[in-house]
Amino acid sequence: MAHKIYNFSAGPSKLPEVVLEIAKNELTNYQGKGFSVMEISHRGKDFAEVLTNAQQNLRKLLNISDDYAILFLQGGATQQFSQIPLNLLGGRSADYIITGAWSEKSFSEAQKVSSYKNAPEHQIRLVASTQHSNFTKLPEVSEIKLNPFAAYLHLCTNETIHGVEIDPNRLAPLPNVPLIADMSSHILSRPFDIEKFGLIYAGAQKNIGPAGLTLVIVRRDLLGLADLNTPKILDYAQLAENDSMINTPPTFAIYMAGLVFDWLLNTCGGLEKISEKNQQKADLLYSTIDNSENFYQNLVEKDCRSRMNVPFIINKDLDKENVLLNKFLSEAEKNGLIGLKGHKSVGGLRASLYNAISLEEVKVLCDFMQEFQRTA
Ligand SMILES: *Cc1c(COP(=O)(O)O)cnc(C)c1O
Repeated sequence: MAHKIYNFSAGPSKLPEVVLEIAKNELTNYQGKGFSVMEISHRGKDFAEVLTNAQQNLRKLLNISDDYAILFLQGGATQQFSQIPLNLLGGRSADYIITGAWSEKSFSEAQKVSSYKNAPEHQIRLVASTQHSNFTKLPEVSEIKLNPFAAYLHLCTNETIHGVEIDPNRLAPLPNVPLIADMSSHILSRPFDIEKFGLIYAGAQKNIGPAGLTLVIVRRDLLGLADLNTPKILDYAQLAENDSMINTPPTFAIYMAGLVFDWLLNTCGGLEKISEKNQQKADLLYSTIDNSENFYQNLVEKDCRSRMNVPFIINKDLDKENVLLNKFLSEAEKNGLIGLKGHKSVGGLRASLYNAISLEEVKVLCDFMQEFQRTA
């Protein structure tokens, strides 16, 4: 018999079991209609209902007004790194803040888009970077010199690899410059005021659903700024006008995301509730790390530790050759704990505590960690 799996993967990651059960039951017979949701036209009334319900539930969850368009796209969050400047630069420059690997990538992709224009006023400006700290803290607000005429300011509010999180509720709204955020790995983990943002985006495979779907929520006054030579399929205005269906959207992934939105709203009781749970989970894991007498270490400053992605290491003085690290990973796997290997660029360990992970599952991880330390 297969034993229980505790899946701490950073993405694609664990989905709520009840959602998978519903999808399983409906896989060949969607709502008793005799076909799979995968097998029907995206233009027909059954799929239209799936799409509308998903959008409506997402609007409720995040309290999104009609001033914003919700787009269900493809290409991953990575495609947004170039789609955003293509759509929003409008011949101007933009400001970027780098707090980890993902915002670094978005910055370098934006430079490619803007460099076609070859003029300094079209530059993508780096206004703050915490690379000097190995991405263990947030930039000092006093260090950030924003361009008040920038087309937008871009940041990543949760760095999945480095485990650094900016609580969107702590961001001061910018009066004139639209704020753009990559929220891939913490969207829907807590309530926040969408009105502070011009655009937010997220690849679905962290906290929303299966891979293949990218969520973009954009304020409608930012639509229509794209260059005339922007391909239609990349133009937010065209995508919004066509309800994300210029071509065939990722229908099954949208259906799954819709089930997750429904689960958050009706089973979990909304984002306030899920946020409390997420806080408890993160508190438990961080306290296990911090109380391990430096056997385990998380190097991120306490005020910006991610609640979703917790990178940690086994003390390098005790484990110069990664013997303990490898033993940890293989023993974890024997106990059903998977997805704990750190990202290849930083090594070490990482536990991702997305919405679908329960407090009990985090307890199992923490018990395992303590037992491993005791016997190491
Ligand atoms: C995973 C991730 C991405 C990349 O997402 P893809 O959908 O694979 O393109 C970008 N940003 C953040 C913060 C991520 O966690």
